Amino acid sequence: MYQELEEKLGYKFKDLSILRQAFTHISYARERGIGHYENLEFLGDSLLNFMIVDLLVSEFPQKREGTLATLKAYLISEDFFYELAQELELSRYILMSRGETERGQVHNISIISDVFEALWAAVYLDSGKDCNLVKELFNNLFGEKIVSMVREGKVRKDFKTELQEITQKRWKERPVYRVMSVEGPSHDRTFSVECSVKEFRTVGRGKSKKQAEQEAARKMVDALTSSFSSSETSE
Ligand code: MN
Repeated sequence: MYQELEEKLGYKFKDLSILRQAFTHISYARERGIGHYENLEFLGDSLLNFMIVDLLVSEFPQKREGTLATLKAYLISEDFFYELAQELELSRYILMSRGETERGQVHNISIISDVFEALWAAVYLDSGKDCNLVKELFNNLFGEKIVSMVREGKVRKDFKTELQEITQKRWKERPVYRVMSVEGPSHDRTFSVECSVKEFRTVGRGKSKKQAEQEAARKMVDALTSSFSSSETSE
């Protein structure tokens, strides 16, 4: 049942039970008294962190540490893992209790991103902890995509960080984020988040709270930058 996935990964598992564990949600594991993906996810998170930083450092040796850190903040995020995971169609394999499945949780962004992390840990363990092999498989699948995203400037900036730097400098204050509404079924939610600082207010929308916050922060950066430049010219 995992054949198609193995083909995409370019890796054949010796022990399918570890692969199965990578797809086993705690709700399913509890009902049957078997292992779930959480520990694999923990390990996989570190593996992905390492593989992405290694890729960035070797492909972009001229970039400074601060720039790399900004790129990393985006590339090692739930939203980006979710994007990569979509290419492997991971939701097809997730094992969950019936209740969770009916709630549409197999399409949940956080869960798919967790499973993506667990999957890489499963490959690592199954291969006898062959770091180089895991890196090679990961780069074959996603290396080119990541490198060209960085080259073309498609890696989104972390607008929350940028905004906070602006407001701290200007007023010694941090912006405040507030979830205004969550709409739609659980597998297709839309979050609306308000960002406020001083008399300024913006609203962002997105498929996750994080995405909506980023959008609100981006609009706030725009709003503040234009208001600063107009007040600076009148000063
Ligand atoms: Mn995770």
